[in-house]
Amino acid sequence: MRVLLVEDEPKISAYVKRGLEESGYAVDAVFNGRDALDWCAATPYDLVILDILLPVLDGLTVCRQLRQQNNPLPILMLTARDAVADRVAGLDAGADDYLVKPFALAELFARLRALARRGNDQSKSPLLKFADLSLDTRTRQVRRGERTIELASKESAVLECLLREPERVLSRTQIAEHVWSYDRDNQSNVVDVYIRTLRRKIDDPFAQKLIRTVRGVGYCLSLHETD
Ligand code: CA
Repeated sequence: MRVLLVEDEPKISAYVKRGLEESGYAVDAVFNGRDALDWCAATPYDLVILDILLPVLDGLTVCRQLRQQNNPLPILMLTARDAVADRVAGLDAGADDYLVKPFALAELFARLRALARRGNDQSKSPLLKFADLSLDTRTRQVRRGERTIELASKESAVLECLLREPERVLSRTQIAEHVWSYDRDNQSNVVDVYIRTLRRKIDDPFAQKLIRTVRGVGYCLSLHETD
């Protein structure tokens, strides 16, 4: 899951970014509304966390403009006060949900998970499955058959990308865009490294291989050889 965080208070931004990254999200942080629109136009985000009071363009204007562009991106608004008028304005502008500052990270995560499920109709269930492989998007637990497989957070983020669209070939860039933010090394060869680790954990102990390389294109989950 790749998230755009739009929050101009550096301390809150750093705190939320670190918390999200520790939970396996890729996070780009911007600090004003103009940058938020530019980054949304350039990058396929899965979610936006949008503060209302922002320099240059405020959060309500950003939200309205995204919706005018028919951008369906799930938007979580942050409001400074628990005032009914603020919440109504956010929802009227097209936000999907709101959170009142200050908030606990656990609550933020719960809202983001709910929004991600809502945005992704085919996966109402928190369980993503392909063949005997499954990933619970709430607990991050990965199982293959009867075995629990321990994955690091970025490993499970790469796997989640593949599991959301089994049989679809995803390029290294498409995978990287959902797993790493711009301030990290997101050269596509990083994806190869993670796929190697995933294969060792998920495919090597089993006769039926699931992770396939499509030469010159990328990777997919499939029961069948692709080359
Ligand atoms: Ca603010």
